[in-house]
Amino acid sequence: MPENQKTQIYLDFNATAPVRPVAREAAMRAMETVGNPSSVHGFGRAARKLVEDARERVAALVNAQPSQIVFTSGGTEANNQALLAVEHGTVLVSAVEHDSILAPVPEAPRVPVTPDGVLDLDALDAMLAKADTPALVAIMFANNETGVIQPVEEAVAVARRHDALVLCDAVQGAGKVPVDFAALDVDLMTLSGHKIGSPQGTGAVIVHDRVQLHPLIAGGGQERKRRGGTENTPGIAGFGAAAEEALEQLDTYAAVAGLRDAMEAEALARVPAARVFGADAPRVPNTSSLGLPGISSETQVMALDLAGIAVSAGAACSAGKVKQSHVIAAMGEGDGWAGTVIRVSLGHETTHGEVERFLDAWQDLYMCRRAA
Ligand code: PLP
Repeated sequence: MPENQKTQIYLDFNATAPVRPVAREAAMRAMETVGNPSSVHGFGRAARKLVEDARERVAALVNAQPSQIVFTSGGTEANNQALLAVEHGTVLVSAVEHDSILAPVPEAPRVPVTPDGVLDLDALDAMLAKADTPALVAIMFANNETGVIQPVEEAVAVARRHDALVLCDAVQGAGKVPVDFAALDVDLMTLSGHKIGSPQGTGAVIVHDRVQLHPLIAGGGQERKRRGGTENTPGIAGFGAAAEEALEQLDTYAAVAGLRDAMEAEALARVPAARVFGADAPRVPNTSSLGLPGISSETQVMALDLAGIAVSAGAACSAGKVKQSHVIAAMGEGDGWAGTVIRVSLGHETTHGEVERFLDAWQDLYMCRRAA
């Protein structure tokens, strides 16, 4: 964490993770060299090597082949490309997808989730039975607000029965739990570098060999003609270094769940009227969706910010505006809770002391509001 941000407590790792020192060094080294990866001379070949080394590391993170990786500017571009640049019929999306999936296909029917936030596989089956083939189904690996891990393998089995393609947004899963592109046998997967500690502005679409991905950005034929434009070499070098370290640290990352679970238990002990969403489903270790009755998400985020604690109101926070959580609404809590939820997302480096300070501020906020 930069020196001037050390007094603040950062519990918003799902929004962006601090850049890992190894990623910073790799990006800096790349910036100290000159060369366009498409140039044939030695400078160009050196830049190409940086990109290709990173491609191998990113592929290894999710057990894909390097040739299947198409670098993009981030998860949003990756999701747009996967949805808009692959030939298919109807698109179906799970009701809890990120806006970068929902916005490009606003008319797409939404597959419901259970009250725990898990995809309803029977509903998917029924909806696919009615859809044109070949349909494409977007189902995320892990939800960005609740951390709930989706039954992707089962969804792929259902999709196969209907000849449908599957796009898995693994932006919040990769680097937190094992993600295996080959074993899941999805057709497309997407990643975002800055969620795992690379510099911002990097991402990837991973494309199965059986799928043809057209370029969304036409240009000089980079990325095997799948994404035009000179590669973001420093960012990609950082992404590769971050992916390598994230893979090495997967085992120790699992321990973050202990801190998260203790935080949730203590939160409910202090404010019994509060709720934790998705707690009974399998989740990534670091994410908690906490509802505080009667206090809007926006008020909570601002009050906690004043107390020096950074959390988020979920996904739908752009340009400083917070709106109701479509994720919590899809879990059947539209009226009461969807506007009262905050997302607390921890990192490897989060300490007990930081969590305690968060809980104190959160409880104070509740007590003050009740007294007012
Ligand atoms: N998908 C999910 C699940 C996300 O959480 C996010 C970002 O929060 C994105 C996609 C978009 O990624 P990026 O910020 O790299 O555009």
